[in-house]
Amino acid sequence: MTAAALAPTFPDTPAEVLPGLAELIATQLAPQVVDIDLKGVYPGGFLQQLGAIGGLGSLTPVAHGGTARGLGHAIQVIEEVSKQCVSTGFLLWAEYALQWYVINSSNQALAAEMLPKMARGEVLGGTAQSNSMKSCVGIEEARLKARRVECGYVINGVLPWVSNIGPEHYFHMGASLPDAPGLVIGLVHGSAPGLTLAQNAHFIGMEGTNTFACQFRDVFLSDSRVVCHADEFNAFRDRTKSAFILLQMGMGLGLVDACVAMMKRSDRTHGHVNRFLDVQADALEAELDAARAATYALAEKIERDGSAPYVRDTLALRLAGSELSLKAANAAMLHLGAKGYLSNNAAQRRLREAYFIAIVTPAIKHLRKELHEFDTHSCALSQPQPELEEA
Ligand SMILES: Cc1cc2nc3c(=O)[nH]c(=O)nc-3n(C[C@H](O)[C@H](O)[C@H](O)COP(=O)(O)OP(=O)(O)OC[C@H]3O[C@@H](n4cnc5c(N)ncnc54)[C@H](O)[C@@H]3O)c2cc1C
Repeated sequence: MTAAALAPTFPDTPAEVLPGLAELIATQLAPQVVDIDLKGVYPGGFLQQLGAIGGLGSLTPVAHGGTARGLGHAIQVIEEVSKQCVSTGFLLWAEYALQWYVINSSNQALAAEMLPKMARGEVLGGTAQSNSMKSCVGIEEARLKARRVECGYVINGVLPWVSNIGPEHYFHMGASLPDAPGLVIGLVHGSAPGLTLAQNAHFIGMEGTNTFACQFRDVFLSDSRVVCHADEFNAFRDRTKSAFILLQMGMGLGLVDACVAMMKRSDRTHGHVNRFLDVQADALEAELDAARAATYALAEKIERDGSAPYVRDTLALRLAGSELSLKAANAAMLHLGAKGYLSNNAAQRRLREAYFIAIVTPAIKHLRKELHEFDTHSCALSQPQPELEEA
């Protein structure tokens, strides 16, 4: 099937994606991009303004303050923002991931209390689910340990990197219990007693993402802040996983789009020599169109049928998105030549952003491991298996 045949019915321009989005990106985000990248400026004000125009609420029901425009819409907003800046696109992904877990929680009181504020950008936050996801597929141990106490849990341990957080932010954590399988997932406030946020590392990209190490020393997680208890974990993971990961495609699509645009601009003056490079703008654009069509088609399927049947498709597409991002950023860098090597030029920034897309959980190696386990039937996820269902 061609990319055109798969083409979704989503709008093309930022103005059509969300009224006010194009202007907000041009006036509030674009002027800050170099400072976000090189000086570590956190674009929290932009996120709040985006929330005010409905740019954070696509997944959240209208009854809880969202717009309910759907998964494809959320990915489109991330894509539009990532065309300018993947650091900010990642923060936006974190915002959606934060809400997605609350939306899917059986804790209705938590949803009623938090979602309206999250969907409108009145409170911001992220997700510390990297370690949980890696522990689920045997890459590393769960780094947070929970102990059941009256009315909640006590949490101890350290998570090295969590983005879009701070003393005023919220984030999700997952912790294992000594005597039960699964993880307890909870919503934690950045100023919770016993929680220390430390900014003890500098990154070659994503410096503006407010990324902290989180040390939990007897942090109390009350039952009222539990998103998912350990005995609910498998079902919760299955119903949230595909959308959680597919949302990250917005970062890759936006980045590749920006690289194609840079390559085309460079070809206007250097096409006579750029044409000897292996990856050309038109061919890359065709790959982008196919990836975009596949992403929005998969978003529609996940919305229609739920997450669990599409986990494998999502992992495969997310892997292709990482590989295409690396290819595009490399090609853009070679097209721009010495100009792209300047510290304020977008080409070298795109290269560093592409590596982030490739290493943020699920990283390329993580995706390949999970896909291998799916294909050798050693996957832990309770993905429906046709033979088992018939038996
Ligand atoms: C800028 C940035 C933002 C991130 N934001 C988030 C987030 O919001 N939420 C989230 O859950 N995860 C976040 N992460 C973590 C990320 O998703 C990955 O888990 C992480 O990049 C490691 O993945 P990996 O597959 O390379 O891990 P692995 O291959 O398992 O580990 C890679 C190497 O990193 C080493 N390492 C681990 N922690 C540290 C550390 N603190 N300092 C130095 N080396 C270390 C490991 O020992 C190992 O050698 C972020 C990472 C970065 C770089």
